[in-house]
Amino acid sequence: MLVFKFGGASVKDASAVKNVAQIISLFPTKKKLVVVSAMGKTTNALEEIVDALSTNNYESYRYLVEEIIKYHLKIVDNLFLERHEGLVTFLDDMKEFLFEKIKKPFSEKYDYEYDQIVSLGEVISTKIIEAYLLDRTVSAIWIDTKQFIRTDNNYRNAFVDWKKTQELIDLNLRPLFKTSDVIVTQGFIGATAEGFATTLGREGSDYSAGIFAYCLDAESVTIWKDVPGMLNADPKWFDKTIKLNQISFQEAIELAYYGATVIHPKTIKPLQNKNIPLYVKSFVDPSASGTVISSVTDYDHLVPSFIFKMNQIKVGITPKDFSFIVEENLSHLFNILSTSGVQINLMQNSAISFDFVIENKPSVIKNLFSQLESDFIVTIEEGLELVTIRHYDQATIDRVTIDKEIILTQKSKQTARILMRNIK
Ligand code: ASP
Ligand code: MG
Repeated sequence: MLVFKFGGASVKDASAVKNVAQIISLFPTKKKLVVVSAMGKTTNALEEIVDALSTNNYESYRYLVEEIIKYHLKIVDNLFLERHEGLVTFLDDMKEFLFEKIKKPFSEKYDYEYDQIVSLGEVISTKIIEAYLLDRTVSAIWIDTKQFIRTDNNYRNAFVDWKKTQELIDLNLRPLFKTSDVIVTQGFIGATAEGFATTLGREGSDYSAGIFAYCLDAESVTIWKDVPGMLNADPKWFDKTIKLNQISFQEAIELAYYGATVIHPKTIKPLQNKNIPLYVKSFVDPSASGTVISSVTDYDHLVPSFIFKMNQIKVGITPKDFSFIVEENLSHLFNILSTSGVQINLMQNSAISFDFVIENKPSVIKNLFSQLESDFIVTIEEGLELVTIRHYDQATIDRVTIDKEIILTQKSKQTARILMRNIK
């Protein structure tokens, strides 16, 4: 049994959906569970819808709902030779359902409301994919992932209840493969014990694929993308990127930790635990080799990888009372940092000072500084970039630091991290 994951870009219009069906047909002898994201930029559009609703901006709410429904209707229109009554009715009902929301007051619990609405993007996309596969006489079945992925009620970033999820999948999902070749389901979504939709965090569909693969003991997972595989740098910051042909689970986890964005970071651990290989492949060129992520570590060091984080700020902390950082202040500091929701990208300390690097997000920083400033002298340096190089050597360091002023460097055996700024 194979698990496939198709992201928003791979289902953004009718010809993309046709291509998905084409890829599925390339593996005729295997059973497949297909996890699909919302089409194109639908999730962003749904986020705007939630904002409009929560601020009682009904005119723009209605307009945005109309637009989303129109977008999907057009895809449906272009997919089928004849009008697909089932899908047209489904989309009409969806529009009515969303319009009805105006009549009820928006819940105090923003994150709860967010998940109930934003999760609909995946419901719509998978309904369309299922209908198209059936039209092509594939033995496909749509399932509601809320019946299988059980989570807590930490809306917008829900945690998976693995035991319950495993139980539900064993009992109710595995048997479906006896009668269907392809099971189509939503990425990104789970449900609480009461059945309310939850989401697993933005870009969480990869993670859904990992969860299903783990619980179904899949042979492999393939994430189909608009790039040829995992690259050794983001082409946005780097020309002459190189594809990583084969890396280990551990290496993929490290790259994700330092900020590589190709795969959702939570995806890999469950696969590693069951030694299920993960392929990252191009949906444009499905026969090309892509990247294989597996337990094999032999090739990790072959290609250096570069991860850039821009718009960073270095924060320096010194106790006002001349106490030492490590002995007297570290736990207090970490407490403040962990409750303020900042993500620390780099840290370093001396006897009397502690430096850390975070992304320059004014709202978060304001709140953090107000807590720090009662006990510490806080200094900042803005306009920095942080580059992480896995499997570095001097040449790779020279390559990224050209015309830069180096503020701080940290090296371990495999990883160099350099905080720097443009020389003015
Ligand atoms: N549709 C969701 C998002 O855009 C989940 C995903 O694409 O993985 O965040
Ligand atoms: Mg998406």
